[in-house]
Parts: sequence; structure tokens; C-alpha cells
Amino acid sequence: MQHTFTDLGLTRQFLDAVQEAGYTQPTPIQIAAIPPLRSGQHLIGIAQTGTGKTAAYLLPILQNLKYAQGTDPRALILVPTKELVLQVSEQVRALAKFTDLRCVALYGGVGRKAQAAQIKAGIDIIVATPRRFMEMYQEEGLIVKYIQVFLLDEADRMLDMGFLPQINLILDLLPRKKQNLLFSATFSPRVEELSWNFMDFPVKIEITPEATPVETVTQHAYSVPNIQTKLELLRHLMEDTETYHRVIVFVKTKTSATAVYDYCAHRIKGSIRLIHSNKSQNARINAFDDFREGGVRLLIATDVMARGVDIPLVSHVINFDVPIMPEDYVHRIGRTGRATCTGAALTFIHKGDEHNFGRIEEKIRMEVARLPLPAELPVYETPFEENQDMDRAIDTQRKREDPTFQGAFHDKKDYKLKVSEKERKTFTAHKGRNTSFAPSKPRKKKTSKHQRHKK
Ligand code: AMP
Repeated sequence: MQHTFTDLGLTRQFLDAVQEAGYTQPTPIQIAAIPPLRSGQHLIGIAQTGTGKTAAYLLPILQNLKYAQGTDPRALILVPTKELVLQVSEQVRALAKFTDLRCVALYGGVGRKAQAAQIKAGIDIIVATPRRFMEMYQEEGLIVKYIQVFLLDEADRMLDMGFLPQINLILDLLPRKKQNLLFSATFSPRVEELSWNFMDFPVKIEITPEATPVETVTQHAYSVPNIQTKLELLRHLMEDTETYHRVIVFVKTKTSATAVYDYCAHRIKGSIRLIHSNKSQNARINAFDDFREGGVRLLIATDVMARGVDIPLVSHVINFDVPIMPEDYVHRIGRTGRATCTGAALTFIHKGDEHNFGRIEEKIRMEVARLPLPAELPVYETPFEENQDMDRAIDTQRKREDPTFQGAFHDKKDYKLKVSEKERKTFTAHKGRNTSFAPSKPRKKKTSKHQRHKK
């Protein structure tokens, strides 16, 4: 049966707002969540971003609040990152457009003054990160006793980021009698336990099975021996400006992300931006807005960006490395293939990543097809130090699974002894600098001798 927003009991102001936002039909999570939320029930929603989950909870929350009232907040929405605060509050503004409801976005990295002034002027809804919310409560006298709806979004991410103590503190501050909502992309035992802390008899809605990648994304992987070859592969792919027109490259650490950015800056056509948590708040917002508006072709990001953030029409997500947590993979590739668009995800895998990628494939219940490296791509030899890092990573993974495992790396002690004093000095001098991506010799050069011989 076809559902409409009118069937879901939305009032005129909100029907107009969804129409203005360009939503013609409610999504499955909206169909399932709006009626119980309107009637004040507690709810656990298991849904990834891209399913329309934000509007699914905002529409009934806003409709229940009806209009601006008093000066103190009546709804609190907690999300894990600044980007998500901005994005959710933007949706609040769009959906509350035909009401006088007031929303404040509370996030760190900027001074508290402006946010405090907004609260003083009177607000109905808070969208906040847990840390900044606590600061505003402790330092700026934020009053929370009128909170009647509490929502925890991206609960799994919150736990991964270590927010549990703050969440528990906040739960203690809030009135007992209120409507409680929890949204999460996955329903791990930890998320379930968290829900017991504050929810009695919630309705549970699950829109996609746990960690299933959105169906519109095609996934492929390349086996790439080392960082230098990964960089070459990225450069090679990006030469096709038509296909790779709006790309996010995910990199595990801030230092590697910066190094990938430095490499790309001189070699790849089009505008490039870098986002990670050490960037200033303004730089992050600007980069993000520029990318969203289409002025940026390539965005290099750490996992800070992987969740919740909505960027339409991303042509490709490239995983420069494999995330350790399988859930992060799902979130990363969820940046493409949003709404009705199709997208593609490519993952670069070296031998140290294989184990983690296997866990991802188990989680998503599918095998990701491997593509051969392009014939013309120079394949570099793996530097000694990088190879050791990979071997060490493999050992750690295997030891975690089998504590009796001695470790292949361990077995290589003899080899290490054979390294000359000079080499040892060079190795020590380079230790910790493996993100500088100093190019080594392309491996092809080795085979060319043989080829010349054949000629
Ligand atoms: P979310 O899952 O909340 O991150 O939403 C993903 C994207 O879908 C956002 O850009 C929303 O504006 C959009 N969206 C939400 N609901 C609908 C709908 N019913 N029809 C079309 N797009 C929607």
C-alpha cells in the first residue's frame, strides 16, 4: 500500500515543510516511526543514515512540541559529532519552517557565548554533542527540567567514541518522565544495554538488517601492496574526471590523511579538501559546505566524517585503508548511494588489511569482488619498515584470535639480525615517519630488465 505523509497524521505546517523539502513520499522508517512517536511512545530505531531517519524522528517531535513556549528547552537531541549537530539542526530549521519553534545547535570548537545567548533568548529544541551539552549545563546555567523528549542518535557511534559516561550523567540530570528515543545504525549488545538504562518497553523498529550496506552501492576492492602504490592507484583513478567527479577518500588517521592530501594536492585535477578532527571548526564547516555544494571534487577525510553526514550525489567512496571496525566500513560506504542515487565504493587492501577486510565481508554477508590493478600502474616495492608494520599488524590480529600463536614476525628475528648496522640506523631514523610516503622504487623496474632481455 502506498503511504502519504497525510496518512501519517502530519499537520498542515509539516505537510507544507516536507513538500518544500522535496519529499514526495515517506520512507519506510518514516512510515514505521512517525505514528508511534506522535502518540508519545518510547522507540528504538535501527536504521542507517540515508534512510530518512532524521525526518522520521524530527517530524513527530516537532509536531508534538507544536509552537514556541516559555524559554527553556523541551526537546534534547544528542548526536556524536559537530557535523551531525549542524546537519540535524539544519533539518530542524527546514521542517519547522512554518512554525515558530526555536532550535539551538550546541557543539564544541567554538566559543560558548553565542550559544549561551541563544539559549537565554528562549529555545524549544537543543541539538548537541554530549560534551558541549554538559558544559552548557555546568557553566552556563542551562535549565533541563522541562525536557519532555530525549533522543540519542547514532548510539553505536556514541559508544565507540567513549561517550557512555557523559550519556549516563546527562540521563541523571533529565526528568524521569519523558519520551525516550534511541537511534542506531547497529544494535549491538552494548547499545541494547544502554537502552535498558533509560527506556521502558520501547517500540523497536529495524529498517535494515545489522550492518547491511545500502543496496544502491556497488562495492569493489583492489589488492595493493603498499602505501606508495595506493597513492598511484588513487591518482590513476582520478585521471578519469568524468566518472570520479565527487569522491570521498577515507583514511584511518589524521597524519595519513594529511599525507594523502599533500600527495594529491599537486597531482590530481580539481579542487581538493581535507577534513579531520584537528582542523579548526570553521575549516571543517567550509570544506564540508564546499564539497556539498559541488565546488570540491575530492574530499579526504578521517572517520569523523563517516557517520551521519549527508552529502548528496557522491560518485565514489574510496577506502584508502580498511577500517578496523566493520561498522565503520558500512558507515563510510553509506556516504554514497544515498536516496535514489547509485554510488560506488572502492577499497584498497594491503596484506595487513586482509584480516580486517575478511571481518567486514562476514559482517556484510557478502564477498566484495577484487579488481585487477590497472596494467599501466607502477607497482612499488614495499619499504622494509612498512612491510614490518604490516607483519606486526597481522601478528597482532592472529594473536588476538589465538593467544597461543607465537607470531610470524617473531620468527623473523634472524632476518633482523642480518640487517647491517648502517641499515639499522636508517631504519631507526625513519621509524615513525612511515606516513611521509617517501617513494620507493617502482617494482616494475625490476621486471623491465627481464623484459628487455626478452626483446
Ligand atoms: P537521513 O537518513 O536522515 O540522513 O536522510 C538522508 C537524506 O534523505 C536527507 O538528505 C533527507 O533530506 C532525505 N530525505 C528524508 N526523508 C525523505 C523523503 N521522504 N523523501 C526523500 N528524501 C528524504
